[in-house]
Amino acid sequence: MSHKTFRGGVHPDGHKDLSKDCPIEEFLPKGELVFPVNQHIGKPAKPVVKKGDPVLAGQLIAEADGFVSANIISSCSGKVKAIEERHTVNGGRATCIVIENDGLFTLAPGVGTEHDDTSMSGPQILDAIKAAGIVGLGGAGFPTHVKLAPRNPEQIDYVIANGSECEPYITCDDQLMRTRSDGIVEGMRLVLRLFPNAKGVIAIEDNKPEAIAAMTKACASDSNISVLEVKAKYPEGGERNLIGVVTGRQLRFGQLPADLGCVVCNVSSLNAIYRAVCKSEPLMTRLFTVSGDAVVKPHTMEVRIGTSCRELLEAAGGIKPECTAKKILCGGPMMGIAMSTLDVPIAKNNNALTVLAEDEVELAENQMTACLRCGRCGHVCPIGLVPQMMAEAAERKDYERYEKKLYGLDCIACGSCTYICPAKRPLMQLFKQTKASIMAAKRK
Ligand code: SF4
Ligand code: SF4
Repeated sequence: MSHKTFRGGVHPDGHKDLSKDCPIEEFLPKGELVFPVNQHIGKPAKPVVKKGDPVLAGQLIAEADGFVSANIISSCSGKVKAIEERHTVNGGRATCIVIENDGLFTLAPGVGTEHDDTSMSGPQILDAIKAAGIVGLGGAGFPTHVKLAPRNPEQIDYVIANGSECEPYITCDDQLMRTRSDGIVEGMRLVLRLFPNAKGVIAIEDNKPEAIAAMTKACASDSNISVLEVKAKYPEGGERNLIGVVTGRQLRFGQLPADLGCVVCNVSSLNAIYRAVCKSEPLMTRLFTVSGDAVVKPHTMEVRIGTSCRELLEAAGGIKPECTAKKILCGGPMMGIAMSTLDVPIAKNNNALTVLAEDEVELAENQMTACLRCGRCGHVCPIGLVPQMMAEAAERKDYERYEKKLYGLDCIACGSCTYICPAKRPLMQLFKQTKASIMAAKRK
């Protein structure tokens, strides 16, 4: 049976077998934990602790500052060592709260207490989500309590759980769906209580049969929640693609999902909502995959937010002695961020570390030729852009044409065009730089 899908896209090797069947291990860090105050979209959070303060796991250490912002919660117990600028995973620097970890992970009072949510109102559910510091855990990092409070909640008719996980190497969502399906469905039920006219659809790629079976079983008793198998294709999990596949509605440039009656949440975010509302557990941990052909023991761990990437790679056995790590990415090979140091903490929205023995971009740059005008990049672009023309405009620095005529700012940096280009042109990298230049000029 052929499952629903979107226009365009590519089929990179998944490499999921490296980690998908390894048991999930809990990893408790030994070193300090570091919490950037800007680990979400929106205004940075405001620290509410100072150097020398004792802290407990589950304690608020920085509070949301403004409407689009998110609380930050300590994931360990110990003492505030510093509040200072540090490097972050995306290559920038940010104010960070550094906690000297006492290794005990003592919980703050009330954390982990079971809670009967049946009498909770919609605003109380949203308050609990906000207090827990939940943001989009699939990568977006948008504060969840804001996403779940659109202007007209009665006009939302679809809540879509994103269980696609189309990025190669990463298996944490697949493993979450296979092992914690009940938590995801409970999270979906809580979200549906905010939208009286909505049904829940859990969209999962058809290359994850065990996750499909587990999720189908978990929601079997609820006629308002169903599982939809979608074709395994990259980038199936892009919000715009998923909405089109599930509802047949096409998000136009500049529109938000809520404009089309949709709310999209990653399955990890739904599980975090369940834990926050029903178990009084703020966002302290997440599932995280360390994988790649250069890693000794690729697997998924439940990790503490704020743990250093170096500790996480060591927990996966480090790099194989016979390999040289040519590229280390936070995320997967299609959309991940190339890292220049492992001494940075993972943030709430980071789901993987991928270590590759070959740097395909470097290899490709060595083989790059002039554009062959084959048009393949346009065929695979899931947004319907024309990457070939965007590249010409970007190289000429014709930003007016890039933005206004070619809609280049709508590029979601999925990398499908780079992947398919026979001339090995680093298109996505060029588009990211161009977007950054245009946005910088606008800010000025
Ligand atoms: S990187 Fe941008 S231009 Fe290239 S395929 Fe993806 S969305 Fe289209
Ligand atoms: S895929 Fe590459 S070679 Fe073909 S048109 Fe696009 S940029 Fe040119």
